[in-house]
Amino acid sequence: MDSASPPSSTLPTSLPQQRPSAFSPPSSILIIGSGVFGLSTAWALARRDTFSQCSITVIDRSDPSQPDAGVFPARDAASIDTSRIIRADYSDASYAALAAEAQVQWRKQNQTSDLGAEGRYSESGLVLVADAGPTRAPGEIIDKSSLTGMDYVRFSWDNVRSMASSDPDWAGRIHELPNPAAIREQLGTGGSSGTWGYFNGGSGWADAEASMAWLFDQVVATGRVVFVHGDVVSLQSHDNSVTGAKLSDGRMFSADLVVLAAGAWTGGLIDLSGQVTATGQVLGYLDLTEAEQEQLGKMPVILNMSSGLFIIPPRNRMLKIARHAYGYLNPTSLAPLASSTTTPSQPVSYPLTHLTDPSLSIPKEGADDLRRAIQEMVPLPGLAERPFTKTRICWYADTPTADFIVDYHPHWTGLFVATGDSGHAFKFMPVLGDKIVDCITHNCPREFLGKWNWKSSAATVVTEDGSRGGISGLILSRELNRDN
Ligand SMILES: Cc1cc2nc3c(=O)[nH]c(=O)nc-3n(C[C@H](O)[C@H](O)[C@H](O)COP(=O)(O)OP(=O)(O)OC[C@H]3O[C@@H](n4cnc5c(N)ncnc54)[C@H](O)[C@@H]3O)c2cc1C
Repeated sequence: MDSASPPSSTLPTSLPQQRPSAFSPPSSILIIGSGVFGLSTAWALARRDTFSQCSITVIDRSDPSQPDAGVFPARDAASIDTSRIIRADYSDASYAALAAEAQVQWRKQNQTSDLGAEGRYSESGLVLVADAGPTRAPGEIIDKSSLTGMDYVRFSWDNVRSMASSDPDWAGRIHELPNPAAIREQLGTGGSSGTWGYFNGGSGWADAEASMAWLFDQVVATGRVVFVHGDVVSLQSHDNSVTGAKLSDGRMFSADLVVLAAGAWTGGLIDLSGQVTATGQVLGYLDLTEAEQEQLGKMPVILNMSSGLFIIPPRNRMLKIARHAYGYLNPTSLAPLASSTTTPSQPVSYPLTHLTDPSLSIPKEGADDLRRAIQEMVPLPGLAERPFTKTRICWYADTPTADFIVDYHPHWTGLFVATGDSGHAFKFMPVLGDKIVDCITHNCPREFLGKWNWKSSAATVVTEDGSRGGISGLILSRELNRDN
């Protein structure tokens, strides 16, 4: 089986619930997936005394016969791209605080070996805006699932101001943008977006690929982690325990504990119905002239929480436009399972990427929206009509509330799940692994208890946290057929 195909087996979900009690370190841990979740977990495990006697293995599905072989994570992982926004601008105070903790690491740039050095982090500032939403009564309590983009930005503004109140430098770098004219002036590109928002000079963006390479080097430097290229096709189990993983080439890896961190691909290995669904998000990249680079090079990141559209300041004459949306579903039937297991009865949404289909383009619906972002936010002459140099569909592992899942599987001993990134986990890269290992050792951070756990819901997964643009439920193949 090649890396394009979904794995051929998932584990049954009907076993009695069993949670481990007191923690005793396993003698071997196998991590599947080396994106932000998997690689940061490996880093944290390798540095903790508790795990000093534990062997740590990381498997990722990059194909050894391909030119990109030898790289972790695979090139179509969500963690690999030219850029990711690094912001503590969250409507949820717990994520805002965790992001602020991570930003301390991102800002380190004194030595070339620091995370934020060598262009890995740029503090360009962020213009966070939204379109006008329903009027809210003062103090009105709004359920997370009913948040509009404007609610998200207003709560985020409250959280950022509260955090900055103890940091005069930061407080001096945030201010309200009360109307489109103020947004236009702050953006400095001639464009604007939204009706209200604020500027946070303490936010910025990271070169995602370079940052992951930095993290990989840190993990390798511990000398504690074995890296394996391979496509996991199924988890191995005995009774109600997961005991390891089987690769497409027949190799088997056993471990006392398997940490499943396969991002949007995770639903191909275990049944995640009601927990997580893979959604494809559109990205477009444009080549700029030197003059355009000069003109836009000092712009802040702009993100509109109503449309989900965002633009990152260009580097090396490359501008990236993207949309944080409900995204596309790619329903895929998983192959029949071995006799001891059962597969989900309905197809699961499974990533289709430029590696699995090199001819993949983005649907017109998405491309049109990206062009709308250019017209609105960076209206330089001829830019909105210029053909994209490159496009990409990048996959989120979405949960209903945009909370991650960092928890032991409720039915399978020996299986820990670290996924559900919901399109916002990159910024936590320097601190996430430690929190995941806290959860592995039954010390989940208090503020994430009840958020990061495996949920019992069986509803269709649509992320509703006020941050998504676009239309929910679009089927990728239909959208591609409609117009390409
Ligand atoms: C378009 C886009 C924009 C984003 N913007 C931001 C942003 O601005 N700020 C931010 O903080 N976050 C952002 N994110 C989210 C962030 O990138 C993700 O939350 C994060 O990278 C997810 O990491 P992960 O480890 O869960 O998944 P991934 O990075 O996808 O890693 C999963 C890994 O598992 C491997 N794998 C999968 N299946 C198997 C298998 N069967 N066998 C072996 N290996 C396997 C894959 O090859 C992959 O390397 C964005 C994401 C996207 C897609």
